[in-house]
Amino acid sequence: MIRGAVLYNFFEPLKVESVRLRDPRPDEVVVKMAASGVCHSDLSVQQAKLPFPPPVILGHEGAGVVEEVGKEVVGLKPGDHVVLAWVQSCGRCAYCIDGEEHLCDAAIKAMMAGEETAFEKDGTAISRMAGVASFAERTLVRASACIKIPEDIPLDRACLVGCGVMTGVGAVTNTAKLRPGQTVAVFGCGGVGLNVVQGAVLCGASRIIAVDLVDKKLQWAREFGATDIINAKQTTDVPDAIRSLTEGRGVDYAFEVIGMPEVITQAFLSVRRGGKVVVVGVPGFDQTVSLPASAIPLEEKSVVGSLYGSAHMRRDMPKLLELYMQKRLKLDELISRRISLDQVNEAFAAMETGEVARSVIVYS
Ligand SMILES: [Zn+2]
Ligand SMILES: [Zn+2]
Repeated sequence: MIRGAVLYNFFEPLKVESVRLRDPRPDEVVVKMAASGVCHSDLSVQQAKLPFPPPVILGHEGAGVVEEVGKEVVGLKPGDHVVLAWVQSCGRCAYCIDGEEHLCDAAIKAMMAGEETAFEKDGTAISRMAGVASFAERTLVRASACIKIPEDIPLDRACLVGCGVMTGVGAVTNTAKLRPGQTVAVFGCGGVGLNVVQGAVLCGASRIIAVDLVDKKLQWAREFGATDIINAKQTTDVPDAIRSLTEGRGVDYAFEVIGMPEVITQAFLSVRRGGKVVVVGVPGFDQTVSLPASAIPLEEKSVVGSLYGSAHMRRDMPKLLELYMQKRLKLDELISRRISLDQVNEAFAAMETGEVARSVIVYS
């Protein structure tokens, strides 16, 4: 038996209890978890905003050590250190072949269908969020979820690359392909937004304007490399404030990292002619966004989405960790708290009040 944090009903606290892991299939791997970040998307599942029906073990930003491999698994062995990817690409579909493995047909279909079960408690099958379930001492994943990393990288920091860091940095480097000297605005400076800021630093942005409602988060953004900060609560017209910081033009790229339609509109108003809005935050499935339509052709503005930082997971995750080892990517500074699995509900509460960039569950 292992311990895991199970969501039995939407809007209720997770229940940390003993569950049984089923036997691995030939293409599956048992991973002993070392650490898991608590990401906003975990909270979104609990609040019924993402399609992972209970009972489900949450957690999708994990790192650990391979303990057992199924008989068809190649390239992984017990003892390997891995970050877990929440898109398990097949390597064979049109998207994978085209180099867009984060959009893998098989992986997205499996995710949208609700994951198959991996755990069991008193005869009840329990599924794994996004094929990962990192809120458990041990988990069972497809081999394609395992991104092998060097053993000298601390796993309590490596786990962050499994979601928040890849999503934020990748939105800048992969989705926007920002060039040196370009200007950006970042709407929302939580765990992912801070990584958009540091992605912009890595790409050599000349101006990085951080926008949030919480002064503490704006302070973090500064520490991560924002050149300017705007508290949207104290600013009547945020797009206007952004234009005045960019010689009246607006920014080249605005990143929306909250998932609120009205903020996407603000971001659209903040980019220059020919500028792009990159939507990283996930709005509710029933929400729509309103944009000044004429600006799309007449100002050549566009809105693009960024899922998982448009990642090529096996290429990008080890590279991000290499940058961390060279002290060019901040991971330590993202961790506000290290907690035990039993404190996971407290981590949810701290995220809602904006007290933390990331809580990281550390397993013994
Ligand atoms: Zn996440
Ligand atoms: Zn595929």
